[in-house]
Amino acid sequence: MSQPVVAIVGHPNVGKSTIFNRIVGQRISIVEDTPGVTRDRIYAHADWLDHKFSLIDTGGIEISNAPFVKQITAQAEVAIDEADVIILMVNGKEGVTDGDDHIARILYHSNKPVIVAVNKIDNLKQQSDIYDFYSLGLGDPYPISGAHGKGLGDLLDQVIKVLPEDHHDNVNDGIKFSLIGRPNVGKSSLVNAILGEKRVIVSKKAGTTRDATNTHFVDHHQKYTIIDTAGLRKRGKVYENTEKYSVLRAMRSIDDSDVVLVVLNADEGIREQDKKIAGYAHEAGKGIIIVVNKWDQVDKTSATQRNFEGAIRYQFKYLTYAPIIFVSALTKQRLNQLPKLIDKVYHNHEKRITSSNLNDVMMDAISMTPTPTSGTKRLRIYYATQVASAPPTIVIFVNDPTLMHFSYQRYLENQFRKSFDFTGTPLKLITRSRK
Ligand code: GDP
Ligand code: GDP
Repeated sequence: MSQPVVAIVGHPNVGKSTIFNRIVGQRISIVEDTPGVTRDRIYAHADWLDHKFSLIDTGGIEISNAPFVKQITAQAEVAIDEADVIILMVNGKEGVTDGDDHIARILYHSNKPVIVAVNKIDNLKQQSDIYDFYSLGLGDPYPISGAHGKGLGDLLDQVIKVLPEDHHDNVNDGIKFSLIGRPNVGKSSLVNAILGEKRVIVSKKAGTTRDATNTHFVDHHQKYTIIDTAGLRKRGKVYENTEKYSVLRAMRSIDDSDVVLVVLNADEGIREQDKKIAGYAHEAGKGIIIVVNKWDQVDKTSATQRNFEGAIRYQFKYLTYAPIIFVSALTKQRLNQLPKLIDKVYHNHEKRITSSNLNDVMMDAISMTPTPTSGTKRLRIYYATQVASAPPTIVIFVNDPTLMHFSYQRYLENQFRKSFDFTGTPLKLITRSRK
């Protein structure tokens, strides 16, 4: 279920991204073949003393050509809209600035818990510099040093104290899915078209003032929940069409989903931002369907669909497992097939294969293509077992994991995929040495 959210706001250069990276630490995973995913990160999972939360660095949200005051106002608004707890970060070396005052005044009226973190307090002598910041009217300032990693424990203790519990919906949500993609690819049109005349139940999440509104519907006796329908409706905020904000919104929806629909615009082809957004869904390990919308807009010959598929497979190399469906929100072409496809991907994502079936397939695979060797050593594979689902995660026990060549691992994955239907879900293969 969705985690509570903590946002960091403050002037440029006070150290927000330094602190963000310190708190998030090792959790930012590196997926080599998803380009651009790890750079410019403003949203990530974190935890402190068994409390899990998501962290946003609002400093990354930029309104192009806007004056400074408009920039930091938008950042404070994002924090108020998205977060349960806000950390206002200031620079202890500079003292209180006009900008700090401005942000503090906006946050003061938000009714959200705000914690003042005074950064760049690198040594004890500077400790007294924090008292200035009582004038912001937001309570005790917490001294920290991003450079030395000091004070973060006390700051996070305080964050945990005011953090709400995990948000649990009491309702049975069925299969949860979201639609992600660039602005104007047709996400909200698709939602409206999918819902059509279906019986729709809109639920405001209890226990949160955030405007995350999920929509439930039933198709062929299966219940579905569309995550973050509200986020798809434009509210006219200045930051709404910035790339970073739409990525942030997408990442939050991905978090709450079982299956993610990556929506592309057939009319415009594949853009850099599409790849970024799809990369986040892949990285999160969710079930994925690629939805090519506005198919009605395209002049088609017999090769058009095949060519478009080829382009998708080429541009999204890491998403070979994701099925592609060509639809139109306008004419409703193929939209009735979508719930069934989501259902199938969901079940593949949740799938569990017994060890005996798994090992039968693996042993056949090994006999067809012998394991690789390195020098005089040959990779020996003993057995495989599925240790988790959503996504399916298979541990392969071997004599020496360094002998497991990337291409052989891919070969095994393909053999598993041929024998068991894993359409739409990533598979995680982990090689371990048998003790
Ligand atoms: P942001 O713009 O608020 O995200 O700030 P950054 O994290 O990019 O940091 C701005 C500058 O302040 C960088 O040069 C950091 O190395 C430096 N910085 C960050 N934290 C500290 C700190 O605790 N002490 C000192 N002396 N410098 C810091
Ligand atoms: P969002 O920003 O991704 O939610 O996109 P919208 O749903 O607001 O759609 C953006 C624009 O594309 C609107 O003008 C829609 O009417 C139009 N649109 C959406 N889906 C289709 C489609 O399947 N075909 C055509 N021709 N236009 C569409």
